[in-house]
Amino acid sequence: MDHPYRMLIDGELVAGASTFPVVNPATEELLASCPKADGAMVERAVAAAVAAQPAWAARSWDDRAAVVLALADALEARVGEFAALLTAEQGKPLDQATYEVFGSVFTLRAFAAMRIKPETLREEGGNRVIEHRTPLGVVAAITPWNFPLILLMNKLGPALVTGNTMVAKPAPTTPLTTLLFGELAQSILPAGVLNILCDQNDLGPLLTAHPDIAKVAFTGSTATGTKVMASAAGTVKRVTLELGGNDAAIVLDDVDVAAAAQKVYQGAMANAGQICVAIKRAYVPRAVYDDFCAELVRLAGEAVVDDGTRQGTTIGPVQNRMQFEKVLGLIDDARERGTVIAGGKPLDRPGYFIPPTIVRDLTDDAPLVREEQFGPVLPVLAYDDIDEVIARANASNYGLGGTVWGKDLQRATDVAMKIDSGTVWVNQHLAIDANIPFRGVKQSGLGAELGEAGLLEYTQAHIVNAVEWA
Ligand code: NAD
Repeated sequence: MDHPYRMLIDGELVAGASTFPVVNPATEELLASCPKADGAMVERAVAAAVAAQPAWAARSWDDRAAVVLALADALEARVGEFAALLTAEQGKPLDQATYEVFGSVFTLRAFAAMRIKPETLREEGGNRVIEHRTPLGVVAAITPWNFPLILLMNKLGPALVTGNTMVAKPAPTTPLTTLLFGELAQSILPAGVLNILCDQNDLGPLLTAHPDIAKVAFTGSTATGTKVMASAAGTVKRVTLELGGNDAAIVLDDVDVAAAAQKVYQGAMANAGQICVAIKRAYVPRAVYDDFCAELVRLAGEAVVDDGTRQGTTIGPVQNRMQFEKVLGLIDDARERGTVIAGGKPLDRPGYFIPPTIVRDLTDDAPLVREEQFGPVLPVLAYDDIDEVIARANASNYGLGGTVWGKDLQRATDVAMKIDSGTVWVNQHLAIDANIPFRGVKQSGLGAELGEAGLLEYTQAHIVNAVEWA
């Protein structure tokens, strides 16, 4: 690809202080040369966002929402181009990439439709107390490599409609769709309202500590999230942290084994398992454990593991070499402790391809069960008793998502109520919706993204408490 990628600073598309390579994970070949910002560019981007913010906030909400809708329309008009680039840089099959781009359009439209009205807290005896919500100022958006486009829109939509401006920084291995979005936004947004900088994991700390940034909206690993929170503390920034997870699927004993295995398999393997709320461990009643495992093996055997551009591919590559090696390390360790019954070895070709891997007979203290694998590998564990499995599912520092599968909806819902996670789905998975708040508990996050709760995270309360002149 010979597209000249540029960052967006103060309304201008700019080259980097230097460049770094972006690799196609399906081929390991150079995909593009990416501009890299230096510290001076960070300062220019933040200054531009600071300068643009008062005028942006002074516009009416309807006016800002109309601009966000224009961004959505422009993105929708170029879905094919964005999806192809997303597959090339991220690796996901083209149909899943197309879904992510449409989801991004939907997210922008959902936020453009939301409104926050001032709330009258008291109106009596000449005393009127009204809570207004005002923008925070400049938001830094820091995003990971698994869903580079929609995770940015989850932040950009609410930040802009509420009157904030933004400096966005994508992950170094998937910066290109964000840069293409910057090109699109350049002709729609006033200068400085959105700025985009690229780095090689080195500029995040400059943003999170910057005194002129009011909030950090971060999605990424728990390890980095703790650094973001510590760094933001120095200036008492607002933070929303959408972090890692180790979501359990609990299969109840009244399901059809084949149907449940199909759903659990899909929940574990979509996007090659690189989803914060992917099913990362499956707990199955001992009576159906063998049958369930056999069904998962059958499904893994049907997978088409290939370049995401090839029609029919169901599993693309792992996104980057570091993650590829981490996942292979977890599989090697699991081979010593349990039984690998499907997959287990990378494909013998260029690209970071790991076929869907199913591991049984592990104990809960195995690293593959305890840690977030973030790849196409599923440990399957047997259980005997419902209270026992709830305790095992909850024995984690993570608390992002989870699923319960059962024909008796009330019973399955009762189990879901006992799972310590921000979201628990019953008989479905990944039902993420821009109108429904999404948040992690425990070390999976802080604050909400999406929904009205997510919108409020981009505002602060401003109470005006007035009485009649006496
Ligand atoms: P990561 O934490 O390595 O990187 C995320 C972003 O942080 C990147 O842009 C990176 O450049 C930046 N960064 C790195 N060091 C930084 C620092 N010291 N200060 C500020 N920013 C810094 O995460 P990743 O490997 O890109 O993404 C995978 C992780 O993201 C997984 O743990 C996954 O579960 C999580 N995730 C969570 C959600 C959610 O909504 N909860 C969604 C998607 C992914």
